Amino acid sequence: MRRQIVAGNWKMNLTLDEATHLIDAIASASLPPDSKIMVIPPFTHLALATHRLAGTAISVGAQTVSPHDNGAYTGDISAAMLAEIGCQHVLVGHSERRQYHHEDNDLLNRQLKQALSHGLSPIYCIGETVAQREANETLSIISTQLIQGLADITSDGPPLIIAYEPVWAIGTGKVATPEQAEEAHAHIRQQLSTLWDADAANQCPILYGGSVNADNSAAIFAQANIDGGLIGGASLKSDAFLSIAQSFEE
Ligand code: PEP
Repeated sequence: MRRQIVAGNWKMNLTLDEATHLIDAIASASLPPDSKIMVIPPFTHLALATHRLAGTAISVGAQTVSPHDNGAYTGDISAAMLAEIGCQHVLVGHSERRQYHHEDNDLLNRQLKQALSHGLSPIYCIGETVAQREANETLSIISTQLIQGLADITSDGPPLIIAYEPVWAIGTGKVATPEQAEEAHAHIRQQLSTLWDADAANQCPILYGGSVNADNSAAIFAQANIDGGLIGGASLKSDAFLSIAQSFEE
């Protein structure tokens, strides 16, 4: 069975004090033993998170990573640095990075390779804009993001996780219907089986992201190809995040 995952992307939110409270609330909750729970704080809060969550089942991820090993790249953080402070995961290609930092599939491919070569398990984010959905291009956009982003990446490294996040659903309150999300996830799994093989595609967790909350998570997570969620806004409050983490079918 594929791993069920709920990951909280905090984006550029929370003071250190607020982060401490949120981490401690999540760490002290009783969480479903079969699910993987992950927090993805800003860079400045990563050491706090890895320190406070050491010895728990909760993993820590970063929000982006440099495509370079090291050197004169002011403001960047390398995969080796993330691994050194105890991160296990990193987001690659979040739509806010694609949009505001002009990160394209080729750059994201280099970020993924950096992450994988340092033992990090990346969460590769893909998804269409509203204009692309209205032009009936959703599935072809997703395919291109996978083909270019995963070029020369095999399935035998650290586990790769995909997050399908329709751009029009992120932070907007407009959630994809379970059927819309499932159609995209089934297509992603099919595309992965072409890039890798059916077995590797079948083992790859595919998360849905975009306005998931405690009221809609159960219906989304019940879909056959949806293995959990990447949660933005609702991950900033422990009650909402923990209730989403508990909404998988028995
Ligand atoms: C996200 O940023 O990945 C996200 C899904 O945000 P939200 O849940 O707020 O839509």
